[in-house]
Amino acid sequence: MLNMKICEICGSILEECGTCLFNVPEDKAPCLADYEAMARGEMSHAEHQIVVGRWALHNTELQSQKTLIKMREFADSAWGKKVKIFKM
Ligand SMILES: [Zn+2]
Repeated sequence: MLNMKICEICGSILEECGTCLFNVPEDKAPCLADYEAMARGEMSHAEHQIVVGRWALHNTELQSQKTLIKMREFADSAWGKKVKIFKM
């Protein structure tokens, strides 16, 4: 993909308009729909961790320092890669 831009905060591929899908408040966190997707077998736990990690890096004030280190690892493991996002 040409001109693909990556979010500098979480490593997600940005939308064409330049917004990051993970830069949303807690009530819109993209991980909220993951539990049902995992129950349906459409998402692995590892994929879910990446979604949680990316979102958490945009909402650092909600996380402890210890949690953030883990979230950074999850996000870094999939830097610049596309992940599945499910809608509620
Ligand atoms: Zn981001």
